Amino acid sequence: MLDVVIVGSGISGLSTAFRLKKLGLDLVVFEKDDQIGGNIKTVSQEGYTFELGPQTVLADEEVLSFFREVGVDPIVASPSSKNRYIYKKGKLIPLPMSPLAFLFSPLLSLSGKFKVLREPWAPAPVKEEESIAEFVRRRLGQEFLDYIVAPFVSGVYAGDPEKLSVKHATRRIYELEREFGSLIRGAIKKKALGPRGKLISFEGGLFRLVEKLSEKVEIRKENVVLRIRKKDERFILDTREGKVEARVVVISSPAYTSSYLLKDLSWSASLEFDKIDYVPLVVVNVGVKSGYVPEGFGMLVPRREGKRILGVIFSSKLFPGRAPEGKDLLTVYLGGATDRDVIDLPEEEILDTVERELKDIFSIPGFDFAHVKKWKRAIPQYTIRYQKYLDLAKEMEEIHRGLFLTGNYLSGVSVADCIRYSSLKAREVAEFLK
Ligand SMILES: Cc1cc2nc3c(=O)[nH]c(=O)nc-3n(C[C@H](O)[C@H](O)[C@H](O)COP(=O)(O)OP(=O)(O)OC[C@H]3O[C@@H](n4cnc5c(N)ncnc54)[C@H](O)[C@@H]3O)c2cc1C
Repeated sequence: MLDVVIVGSGISGLSTAFRLKKLGLDLVVFEKDDQIGGNIKTVSQEGYTFELGPQTVLADEEVLSFFREVGVDPIVASPSSKNRYIYKKGKLIPLPMSPLAFLFSPLLSLSGKFKVLREPWAPAPVKEEESIAEFVRRRLGQEFLDYIVAPFVSGVYAGDPEKLSVKHATRRIYELEREFGSLIRGAIKKKALGPRGKLISFEGGLFRLVEKLSEKVEIRKENVVLRIRKKDERFILDTREGKVEARVVVISSPAYTSSYLLKDLSWSASLEFDKIDYVPLVVVNVGVKSGYVPEGFGMLVPRREGKRILGVIFSSKLFPGRAPEGKDLLTVYLGGATDRDVIDLPEEEILDTVERELKDIFSIPGFDFAHVKKWKRAIPQYTIRYQKYLDLAKEMEEIHRGLFLTGNYLSGVSVADCIRYSSLKAREVAEFLK
């Protein structure tokens, strides 16, 4: 009997496995695909190195120290990556970086700016749990929602701010209001609104991290886990290659898979996890002649501007070696909660849309290279009343001792969230097995 089986070799599963392996536990990771890494996929093609999933990791001290333990050297994004742009009325407008800068930015009209000035005196919430849209409208107004917050929400969650919970999807903002009574006061006191850290990748892309994490761990690829049962103090797993027994099972697959794996343990939990919404996303990497996009991280397109693309990351501006000499690599996003149908379009139609809109926005005449990746279920949506899923996961772990749940539908969606949460889970597993 194994000490631990981990289901899924995404960053959540692999970082848990890495930590537990270091403790000398007898452990195997089962992965249904023929490739490891889950969402993390780096491709090198025609002189370009590009990401199909996450582009960068916003690494705080805890995550940086994890990388040191793993033995990977992060590379920090170029200093110009602090420049971010919002597309408005045919122009790229720099995203203001401080409360004062908002007052001078052409992103907001005079009445929009006035609403920002009144933010410290905004009315208290009338609902127990607000959506991001309700929260921002109440404190900062519709324009701020449309031109600053909604594009940010589509940049992180590909989500709809009317549906996402301010408490669960943007917890820091929610807490600033609770702690300081005002976002502006909070931002001034804390000297920042968003999370802090270094924006990093690795030489050759994020897959380097996956490779390094997997070096000392036994991973059985193309070996889907189909069923999990508990008998006495052990778990019995049916996998493609047969039965396996373990004292501990860590499920790190997406919620819709965890749902069917939990069926034998709890029918009702299984039904609940299946309700978590994952939005589709289309990622188009294109190679273009240099000189068309400004220095910076990228740009976001507010839905009011009537374009189909959600945003563009200026990928070759962030890290060296991502595009051949004289070329730029751009990563374009389409889809998300507000445009789910794009996933069903043929690739040629998607490329036509991208080509037309990049021409409109940047005057780019065409591509030298293009690659399309469709993610049918890309990112879990932390919607209103999401707490019930977090409570349910905890309840499942308490009832079925030896079962642990991790993954981006519980930890937060960023790679850094997954790493931090999985470290926590690994500590809990170690404690349980003591
Ligand atoms: C297009 C895109 C862009 C993103 N951009 C960023 C970004 O720039 N920065 C950032 O921080 N985050 C970003 N994210 C989010 C981040 O990449 C993910 O939240 C994170 O990688 C999820 O990791 P995970 O291990 O929880 O899940 P996954 O990566 O989904 O891994 C789960 C694994 O479980 C396996 N599995 C499923 N079922 C079974 C089974 N029954 N048996 C065995 N194996 C199974 C799957 O095949 C998969 O390998 C992005 C995500 C996407 C999709």
